Amino acid sequence: TDIPTITLNDGKTIPQLGFGVYQIPPAETKNATLAALEVGYRHIDTAEMYGNEKEVGEAIRESGIPREEIFVTSKLNNGFHDPEAAARAFDGTLEALGFDYLDLFLIHWPLPKVGNYVDTWKALEEIYRSGRSRSIGVSNFTPHYLRRLAAEATVVPAVNQIEVHPYLTQEEARAYGAEYGIATEAWSPIAQGKVLDDPTLVRIAEKVGKTPAQVTLRWHIQRGDIVFPKSVTRSRVEENFDLFSFELSDDDISDISFLNKDERTGPNPEEFNYVP
Ligand code: NAD
Repeated sequence: TDIPTITLNDGKTIPQLGFGVYQIPPAETKNATLAALEVGYRHIDTAEMYGNEKEVGEAIRESGIPREEIFVTSKLNNGFHDPEAAARAFDGTLEALGFDYLDLFLIHWPLPKVGNYVDTWKALEEIYRSGRSRSIGVSNFTPHYLRRLAAEATVVPAVNQIEVHPYLTQEEARAYGAEYGIATEAWSPIAQGKVLDDPTLVRIAEKVGKTPAQVTLRWHIQRGDIVFPKSVTRSRVEENFDLFSFELSDDDISDISFLNKDERTGPNPEEFNYVP
């Protein structure tokens, strides 16, 4: 399968489909990542917070696939927003992964009441200029926070990774990204399974002869967002990779988008200020 790529605002390309490793216990992460690489995934989304960067790195080395053929994202944990701490945390991420560069490094959460995410972003700009992360971006930023970065910083984030699925379609944040060249990455793309019994998704799935998970992931792909569903079950890892042998109609896409009820599975980033 040829996975489509998205060209980021810095000229780098990212596979539109990847594999997420949130909530995969470290002891299972190496095997899960190796399985995903075997199925054909070439984009892995991890984070310092997930505690499994080391095992992701081990899997990539053990796979024998050249490092430059795999797009790897990690994220700055909440305790390290101070610019000097951010620089050290990035070194720690590279060391845990065992890499000499990262493809994409994100501020995991804006933490609006903790420090100043603009200063944190300037630390990421330094990392970007050093070439040790080929791209930099943010996660869980609202348009309001992105506007502050635009006014006070230099580099435009390559991506904004936010919660997006049929019950939280995020039209405003996605439109902001489209206007300013910030690619949207959709986390929890199937709402951790919560959307899969939805009658509209079940109906469309029956019509196209695919599963509700595949229909939901295909909806994201056709909307132009980047996704990295998580699973430790081999058959689902394969199922979630098989998104390019069918297409949804414009009506299907709008019927799914119409399911929006602004319902989150995770925290609201404007209220989330948790530091471990
Ligand atoms: P997801 O929407 O990918 O759902 C994963 C869960 O859905 C699995 O645990 C499994 O129970 C089920 N599932 C997966 N495939 C299935 C299938 N084909 N059929 C039926 N059930 C299936 O949720 P997620 O793991 O929260 O999100 C994906 C990735 O997004 C994460 O692994 C992580 O990389 C990223 N993420 C980022 C943030 C952030 O703050 N930046 C937050 C959450 C997740």
